[in-house]
Amino acid sequence: SDLPQLSGEQVHELDRAHVFHSWSAQDLIDPLPIESAKGVRFTDYAGTEYLDFSSQLVNVNIGYQHPRLVAAIQEQAGRMATLAPGFANDMRSEAARMIAEKAPGDLEHVFFTNGGAEANENALRMARIHTGRHKILSAYRSYHGATAGSIALTGDPRRWASEPGMPGVVRYWGPYLYRSAFYATSEEEERDRALQHLRDTIAVEGPQTIAAIILETVVGTNGILVPPDGYLAGVREICDEHGIVMIADEVMAGFARCGEWFAIDHWGVTPDIITFAKGVNSGYVPIGGTIVSGAIRETFGPKPYPGGLTYQGHPLACASAVASMRIFEDEGVVEHSRRMGEEVIGPRLAEIEAKHPSVGEVRGLGTFWALELVKDPQTREPLVPYNASGEAAAPMGAFAAACKERGLWPFVHFNRTHVVPPCVIEEDDLRAGLDILDEALEVADGYVG
Ligand code: PLP
Repeated sequence: SDLPQLSGEQVHELDRAHVFHSWSAQDLIDPLPIESAKGVRFTDYAGTEYLDFSSQLVNVNIGYQHPRLVAAIQEQAGRMATLAPGFANDMRSEAARMIAEKAPGDLEHVFFTNGGAEANENALRMARIHTGRHKILSAYRSYHGATAGSIALTGDPRRWASEPGMPGVVRYWGPYLYRSAFYATSEEEERDRALQHLRDTIAVEGPQTIAAIILETVVGTNGILVPPDGYLAGVREICDEHGIVMIADEVMAGFARCGEWFAIDHWGVTPDIITFAKGVNSGYVPIGGTIVSGAIRETFGPKPYPGGLTYQGHPLACASAVASMRIFEDEGVVEHSRRMGEEVIGPRLAEIEAKHPSVGEVRGLGTFWALELVKDPQTREPLVPYNASGEAAAPMGAFAAACKERGLWPFVHFNRTHVVPPCVIEEDDLRAGLDILDEALEVADGYVG
């Protein structure tokens, strides 16, 4: 074999010597070398096994090393491992057909990319050219990727170091009842006030200057913010009224995460563009894409689309997407995710919320849930300050350590932990993980008051 066998020590040493890691101070991290992974678990070189409640970066929806998915990639590697985007290719054609079949309404054409950031990058380029307008409205408390345009759209601290970013980005607040920007006291009020705020923002910006509104259908890393019923329909209406392109970023929320093929199906709304990545093939090979409406496809009928990527529609990536979607269909992964949310995660988290003073709110759907941890359940003061790091973030660190000691790999962001296991997780593993979470939350309770 051309693939050397490295020991855990060698992996670690070479990583420290040569790998430059994302989002990190290189001297302050110590990446854990992982030797293997299977199903909903991964194992380090010391033989410690972790039940994964993070799905890595909320992308391994199908679990690790699914045998059919691995076999499909091996088969495609043997048939054709690479081909430029200008040719037609069997797996690219089939992946696009399947995605179009699952996407709502007239979203029938797929521009493939290598991941989520590039999908949003191209969505905004398409929206601007389609409308001939330049402004993009994007939400605070959002993440859209780390390339120039996508990071400019991002509404969280990850954007700050890249500023001044792209001109024309205007920010608005989306609905989030627990920490409402609108003084609302019910989901309905929050919805109505958030929509009015969006209308007001558009009025003062000038609707004729706005190309698109981009939103995460269900906000992911910034808190699993499930929109109130009627919110997305309201955004659709506003977009229609002003000829604004509605872009639903489903990079994290799509492909079974919310118990639907596309999260927006939960509300029966059809946007003009959906962007996807992550769960479409669980990251076995990098892939993402931009799914566009008939009208946007029409714009680029007579006129060239000014954008492309060497590896877009990559045969290995597309083959893995095809196989993954077929596995989802055969194994009922979308329905399973929905059922686990309704029957297991939701009820168990409600118990946990009632029991632990540090749990301010639980929310979510499918296999996409957040627990908001607080110092004081009355004032809702977060367990750690917004964007805390180092000592200030210690309570969340202690909570995460308590999970890891018990064999659970948690997802932690600011003052929240997210329950985002692979969408295929079986009920007994899910219950075992939630039991560990329950225990580890006693550590967080210690900081209350
Ligand atoms: N959009 C959302 C909602 C995401 O969660 C992410 C990644 O976490 C992205 C876009 C960026 O995707 P990628 O990291 O594949 O570029």
